[in-house]
Amino acid sequence: MVLAPILLGAGFVGYTVNAVGEERAAHQLEVAAGAVRSSVAGLCQQLRTAAQLGAAASAGQRQVVAEALVREGPVTGVRVLASDGSPITHAGRPPLPRWADCDAPAEAVGQERFRALAAAAPLTGPDDPAGGEVWALAHLDQELVERLAAAAGVAVTIRTAGITGLLTTDDTAGSAVAAASSAEPDAVTESADGRWVRRLDPTAGQPLSLVLSTSGSYPPTFYPLLSGLVVLAGLVAVLAAWRLGRSTTRPLTELAHAADRVAEGDLSVRVPVRTTDETGRLAATFNRMTHRMQLYVQALTASRDQLRRHLAVLGDTLSGTHDLERILRVILQSALTTAAGSRGAVLLVDERNHTLTGHATVPIRGAIGEGHAALPVTVPLDQGLLGRVATTGRAQRGRIDADQAPEESVALHPDEPRCRTYVVVPITAPGGVVMPTAPWPVPPGVRGVLALYDRLGGDDFDDSDLVALRTFAGQAGVAVDNVRIHQEAQRLSLTDPLTGLWNYRYLNEAIRKEVERAHRFNHPLALLVLDLDRFKEVNDAYGHPAGDAVLAEFAQRIGGVIREVDLAFRHGGEEFAVMLPETDAPGAAVLARRLGMAVRDQPMVISPRGAEGDDELPISVTVSIGIAVYPDHARTPDGLLEAADDALYAAKAAGRDTFRVAGDPESGEPSTTEPVPAGDPGAIEEEDPAAGGAQPPRQSRGR
Ligand code: GH3
Ligand code: MG
Ligand code: MG
Repeated sequence: MVLAPILLGAGFVGYTVNAVGEERAAHQLEVAAGAVRSSVAGLCQQLRTAAQLGAAASAGQRQVVAEALVREGPVTGVRVLASDGSPITHAGRPPLPRWADCDAPAEAVGQERFRALAAAAPLTGPDDPAGGEVWALAHLDQELVERLAAAAGVAVTIRTAGITGLLTTDDTAGSAVAAASSAEPDAVTESADGRWVRRLDPTAGQPLSLVLSTSGSYPPTFYPLLSGLVVLAGLVAVLAAWRLGRSTTRPLTELAHAADRVAEGDLSVRVPVRTTDETGRLAATFNRMTHRMQLYVQALTASRDQLRRHLAVLGDTLSGTHDLERILRVILQSALTTAAGSRGAVLLVDERNHTLTGHATVPIRGAIGEGHAALPVTVPLDQGLLGRVATTGRAQRGRIDADQAPEESVALHPDEPRCRTYVVVPITAPGGVVMPTAPWPVPPGVRGVLALYDRLGGDDFDDSDLVALRTFAGQAGVAVDNVRIHQEAQRLSLTDPLTGLWNYRYLNEAIRKEVERAHRFNHPLALLVLDLDRFKEVNDAYGHPAGDAVLAEFAQRIGGVIREVDLAFRHGGEEFAVMLPETDAPGAAVLARRLGMAVRDQPMVISPRGAEGDDELPISVTVSIGIAVYPDHARTPDGLLEAADDALYAAKAAGRDTFRVAGDPESGEPSTTEPVPAGDPGAIEEEDPAAGGAQPPRQSRGR
């Protein structure tokens, strides 16, 4: 590609050089033609003068004069002729015909072959024959032609000379004469041997037919030198093209390869920057671009990994715990990470207090890094930004603008977290469990609110943040209901449906926990077991449903007597238990007494079998109670229960409607007589003498 214009240029230069060479040769031949004409004319003049000198001499001196003329030159011969042309005398070289007469008219000269150039003068002496002439001759020979060539500065060929060959100074005279013969007179043409040729026809005063030839004005080394220059220029061009290729094509190739690798996902690729020109700038920009892309991908990967970790924690938390507080904390943390909030809050509707209650996060920077601390927050349901979202059930997104008019801006409740930008969504449960009856400001299904504040980077939260937060709020809604359902199921599995008291299953767990606690804190723990007296008879007399009603009423009365920290259980048909933490035997006896009174003093009022609703029936029942205290009577849960059972057995044996405290476990003797070491025994000891002798069968507990 580079060579083509160079060769074109070389061709043009060659053509131009040739054209200039032709012009210069024509000019040279023009000058040479003038010089040759002058030389021939000068020679003719000399011949005329010599002839006149010979003619002027006396007949006797003529021979001497002729020889002197030949001797001095340039005359090579002198002929004295009679009028009839016969020779009278001569000197110099023999005069061979024909002679080119310097004074003959041009058209008379023609293309004759001459042997000499000649000029004549008439004999005018008194002794001379009339009509005689003296001819001075200059033979056409190599010497003459060389003289002419020297005067002209070009090669000269005499076409008309000689018979056997050409008189010439040109080595290639044959081709020169051939070219000149076919050309116009005085035209410059090129011979077959590459010489410039001009024909010089005879004219008046110049009777010779000549051919001038020259090789041109350039030296013989000119064309090889020119060719060498062209080759050199070609080599330089190839070298330049190679350099250009290295400096332009190579960076582009590297760039293309690097772009291919980037397309395949390798962002670590860089290209060398070698220059400061456009290619170098392109390479530097490419490197900068891939570097930024690499950073961007790294940031994306890091945030994706962080999100994955959060989702894993969220999944583990949702599936592994029913700790609602913890679940909500993890959901909030995940939402903060996903939507780049700097702080957040999660609050649940508190139906009893008509508030939103939960916690808000504050960023903290500690020794182990950055994190969030949770602060408790409670705001009224119908106030502030959070209250508005809870009561409308609609998400809110925006900015708290201090310059805004009060009616346009969002009014935050004083207890709400402060913020500049916010996005708040309601936490709704898909089930839509029925909420408390009117007046209730919260739409069905709304369980609370999830809020993010002050997006990191100072931007407002956008639609994608809102979508992400809704997703997390949905998780929270499901979690809230799951936990509540779980709590309800838990409660149901541990309570007795007839009385609402804790059931036998929970008794076992509670007694184990309480014994352990009592042991740890070195407190006493009292356990009372209660059994209604002759309850079979109640069933028999009033029917089983009436019996159930009595049992429910009995449970109510237990609840009315015990403290809030005490636990009441129904652990068998008409058998109950009460656990009194931090209570010793005298304390337990006081309660046993109260329980006995609570049952005995007021008959249970129930509707009898088949009777009308308002026809109520009082049923009097009594209860027997056995008491055992940790650590006085037993140190294990089972032992405690057994000791209390034994004491109950003793109370039954003592005639029912009474209580007994377990005996010293060391002795193995149940207390059967004086049950209460302190208190008011007179007020409670109401033994039934009628039943005294009857030994009730040992209670079967099914344990
Ligand atoms: P005692 O004074 O010896 O305890 O006499 P008792 O009749 O109460 O005898 P026991 O405790 O052995 O009797 C249990 C009776 O309690 C049998 C059954 O009729 C009644 N009972 C057990 N569970 C229920 C129940 O869930 N509902 C009703 N209505 N009665 C029950
Ligand atoms: Mg019983
Ligand atoms: Mg009974």
